[in-house]
Amino acid sequence: MTLKLYNSLTKKKELFKPISKREVKIYSCGPTVYNYIHIGNHRTFLMSDFLKRALKFNKHNIKHIMNITDIGHLTSDADSGEDKMLAAAKKERKSVWDIAKFYTDAFKNDLKSLNIIAPNKFTRATEHIRAQITMIKRLEKNGFTYIKDGNVYFDTSKYSNKKLGGGNIKQRARVKKDPNKKQQNDFVLWFTKSKFQDQDMKWDSPWGLGYPGWHIECSAMATKFLGTQFDIHTGGEDLKQIHHNNEIAQSEAATSQKPWVNYWVHGAFLVNKNKGKMARSSGDFVTIPNLETAGFDALDFRYLTLGTHYRKQMLFSETALKSAQSARKKLFSTYIELRSGGRGSLKSTKLGDKYFKQFTDSVNDDLNLPKALATTWAVLNDKKVPDKEKVYLLLRFDNIFGFNLRKLKSKSIPFRIKRLAEKRLKARLKKDFKTADKLRKMLKAKGYEIEDTIKSYVLKRK
Ligand code: AMP
Ligand code: ZN
Repeated sequence: MTLKLYNSLTKKKELFKPISKREVKIYSCGPTVYNYIHIGNHRTFLMSDFLKRALKFNKHNIKHIMNITDIGHLTSDADSGEDKMLAAAKKERKSVWDIAKFYTDAFKNDLKSLNIIAPNKFTRATEHIRAQITMIKRLEKNGFTYIKDGNVYFDTSKYSNKKLGGGNIKQRARVKKDPNKKQQNDFVLWFTKSKFQDQDMKWDSPWGLGYPGWHIECSAMATKFLGTQFDIHTGGEDLKQIHHNNEIAQSEAATSQKPWVNYWVHGAFLVNKNKGKMARSSGDFVTIPNLETAGFDALDFRYLTLGTHYRKQMLFSETALKSAQSARKKLFSTYIELRSGGRGSLKSTKLGDKYFKQFTDSVNDDLNLPKALATTWAVLNDKKVPDKEKVYLLLRFDNIFGFNLRKLKSKSIPFRIKRLAEKRLKARLKKDFKTADKLRKMLKAKGYEIEDTIKSYVLKRK
């Protein structure tokens, strides 16, 4: 099997080759925990999840690290604006530490609801200050830094930082010019004096009491846990030009090893109706608990994300989510029905093998999951594929989709209800629709919804 991935470094689809056969090392930029994580963020976290599943599907072991940004992440990625954590703490009248803990817990709950496989380790920026200081010291020793007005800056004229393209801060109109910077693309590694004198989170350092700039945490923690060179780095497309270019520059400058990372995988945005990027700063965002309150399951959102390739913008709407919900429910009930359909040994057919190959080819073609999903429905709708094989294929496909079908329980239904349902099925198959309707109403009154399938039915508690 040969997994191809689009690499933002080379702007090409490339055959994935791990550095070591033992395990694939992945780092994902995690959330900044100053507010709830929205479904746009989760689209990106789901992308990393599908990527990990695709790697496992291709028999790779994985070591995955994700950071939690729980300090000094400013509203602008050019070291200006407000400290998001501090602003949230003031608004909610809590300490920054409490804010970080509350939203980290909420984030982890979302991951569980979405069936996202947890990373091997979450690394919190506040827990690895020493690693960040060590990296800044190394950069200082190697001559890549300067100090201005108490802050330590990375000097981009000493190391080119445009491997992921573009990203010239000067061209970004809304960013204010920082007079301390030699080049506007330079960035802060360590703050001692800044606008945020009331910052709660401060640590001793060779440059004075202060706190790290936000890019350094990813470089320091990724290097600490994955080594000076590793396989894959993921994140949303908004991080590419500044955050990730800066990560590359400082990591390679600190370790003198390049490339720091072999494959950069970036996900496109989830956008609102007006085509704007869903963002926490706008206040207009949707969370997983919001969806659950509105009667959806987090897995409906998971299903929805399968419909758009990860490098294409995804338009979110309630209508789209509703159709994802019915498709997801149909998938689950079809699986339960097929599973209950019979024993006997599995004999794979040529047709089943053809579908499996088609599915694998789509997954391995830079995670073409919309196509993989289409193949799944083609299998389920193909009368020539035996039911037993459908179950087998569905479970293998689910290793990528991550619905945990294997764990789905058909809820036990009282005998008297089953008897009514059986009577109704007989009536329906005899085309006695009057009786069938009457029985459906009786079932409904007893709290059961009946969904028809071709030869049978699925009963659900309302
Ligand atoms: P943040 O907490 O803002 O650093 O975001 C966490 C992750 O979500 C990052 O990888 C971002 O690139 C990603 N992200 C933010 N907004 C969106 C969006 N609207 N659609 C997809 N990914 C997003
Ligand atoms: Zn990062």
